[in-house]
Amino acid sequence: MTIVLWILVLAVLGIVDPRDVACTYPSSCWPSEATWESLNSTLNGALVRAFPVASPCHAPVNQDACDIAKENWTNEFWRAQQPGGYFDLNWENGDNLCDINGNASLPCTQGLVPYYVAQVNNVDDVQKAVKFAHDHNISTRVKGASHDFLGRSSGNGTFGISTIKLKGIDFVNRFTLAGAPQEASPESVVHIAAGEHWIHVNRAADSHGVIVVGGRYQLLCGCCWWMVLGGGHSSLSPQYGLGVDNVLQFEIVTPDGQLRIVNQYQEKDLFWALRGGGTGFGVVTKVTYKTHPPITAITTMLFNATYTNASFTSFLREYLALQPTLSTHNISGYSTPTANGIFAQLLIHNFANITALNSTLKPMFDLAQSETSNGRPAKIITGFGVIPSYLSLFDDPTTFDQGAGSYTIFGSRLAPASAFQGDKVQKLADFMVKSPFIVIMHLVAGNKVSQVAGDATAIHPSWRKAIHHIILAGGWDNSQPIPTRNLIRSALTSATQEFAKFFPGFGSYVNEGDINEPKWQETFWGSNYPRLNSIKNRYDPQGIFTCFHCVGYED
Ligand SMILES: Cc1cc2nc3c(=O)[nH]c(=O)nc-3n(C[C@H](O)[C@H](O)[C@H](O)COP(=O)(O)OP(=O)(O)OC[C@H]3O[C@@H](n4cnc5c(N)ncnc54)[C@H](O)[C@@H]3O)c2cc1C
Repeated sequence: MTIVLWILVLAVLGIVDPRDVACTYPSSCWPSEATWESLNSTLNGALVRAFPVASPCHAPVNQDACDIAKENWTNEFWRAQQPGGYFDLNWENGDNLCDINGNASLPCTQGLVPYYVAQVNNVDDVQKAVKFAHDHNISTRVKGASHDFLGRSSGNGTFGISTIKLKGIDFVNRFTLAGAPQEASPESVVHIAAGEHWIHVNRAADSHGVIVVGGRYQLLCGCCWWMVLGGGHSSLSPQYGLGVDNVLQFEIVTPDGQLRIVNQYQEKDLFWALRGGGTGFGVVTKVTYKTHPPITAITTMLFNATYTNASFTSFLREYLALQPTLSTHNISGYSTPTANGIFAQLLIHNFANITALNSTLKPMFDLAQSETSNGRPAKIITGFGVIPSYLSLFDDPTTFDQGAGSYTIFGSRLAPASAFQGDKVQKLADFMVKSPFIVIMHLVAGNKVSQVAGDATAIHPSWRKAIHHIILAGGWDNSQPIPTRNLIRSALTSATQEFAKFFPGFGSYVNEGDINEPKWQETFWGSNYPRLNSIKNRYDPQGIFTCFHCVGYED
């Protein structure tokens, strides 16, 4: 009987989670308590039995710990520190309803939190933890800042390795990559340890007089890892490329427990795979990232257009039709069209000149003007600002702890300039206006992103031809029963498949996509998948780091 058949039989008997090929709790292959205890002593007590963060508020209640959990419920920094804490409750509680305000007399279940978590303190700990997982063939999840929207850092019955305590941000002005030939030019870089949050990297970069291509804004409280491993878009990307275009070197403990330094000169295949292939190749302990000269002025334009009648779709169509021109002018930003309005933040980095932005948007404003004078009401509020540094664009502590601890799901597609041209654009506007899911448009590709070949990194090649990454977002609150959640999940998957028809041949950003994508290999990685899968098989033949719809997963 093949291994897959065995797993199916055991899954039917409820002994293993069919999503894991390696051993999970409570299968008979799971190591004994004494074996775990011996790992704990090797790790100097860093191994913890992990639970969802609301568990102290459930029987048996620990009131002090419960009060702390309540106080920090939406705080993403705090959640990242907790062995069982995740940004998105989908991947912590699952559907097991361990609600912070739920019935305290009911015990909290394990949810999707790994059974044991090693909160490693140094690279040596990482090697010991990985070696243990390898020797015992245990299904293992790596957790960084815990922001994953697709649940790849948690898993019921798995062993977790949390890298959040691995700290360090070091700038080096003239750094030569390991294994580089003598004639290679040194580069200005920053070495970032796996447990750092982007906000701290951005602050350190600002003090050091440089910038790095980090996440969108302050809410991206970390994401050093999957953002780099999965792609990584930023408002700086049209100017400096994606996260994967800015990584020069990784230090990684591979599934055999070896620490490897991976770059364009050594372990080239792995270097290629890590830039977009995502999780599943081991535990990254450090990334060496490019730095760029500081930005001294960013022009931002905020506009909020609200319509009270059906003529909104023509305004939205006009706005969508302007996207290719905005992209040509190297303007980036984020827009949220709703049923009757658009809220947008558009950014011009490095030159405080608003002429290009104004002249590009003029047709849209002219349209609004004529509609208003025709008696069709539109309200548009615009605000311009010139921001003195990249950091000051998002370093606002008042908004830091507001996003986490809810249930969010995404579907998404990358979109080329041609999708905003001709008669397609009206249909796209109609789709967005009618969408029951929130539409979030990210003008973060094009320009520098498009100057890299589709197979130069492992991300979906269509990133290199896109200008936009567009999300459909949904969610629910704790009061909604499981059947309702499942209806929302399947409605999102259907809506995403409908939406995909606007962008034939284009994929989805693997960090902000639908975990239930029917053709996930093709949608997340396209023609890069076969090479990725063969590298994965070489480095992780046992599949100890394989997760649902990650590279190497078999349907
Ligand atoms: C509020 C918010 C804003 C966001 N904004 C942006 C944005 O502007 N741009 C963008 O590109 N993305 C953005 N994202 C998406 C983000 O890139 C992903 O959520 C990403 O998965 C977060 O990485 P993490 O390390 O915090 O998450 P985790 O949940 O800790 O990990 C994510 C994945 O990376 C793996 N991983 C983590 N650490 C390691 C490691 N050391 N070695 C190997 N594998 C590891 C995990 O196993 C998992 O598969 C945002 C997300 C949120 C929640």
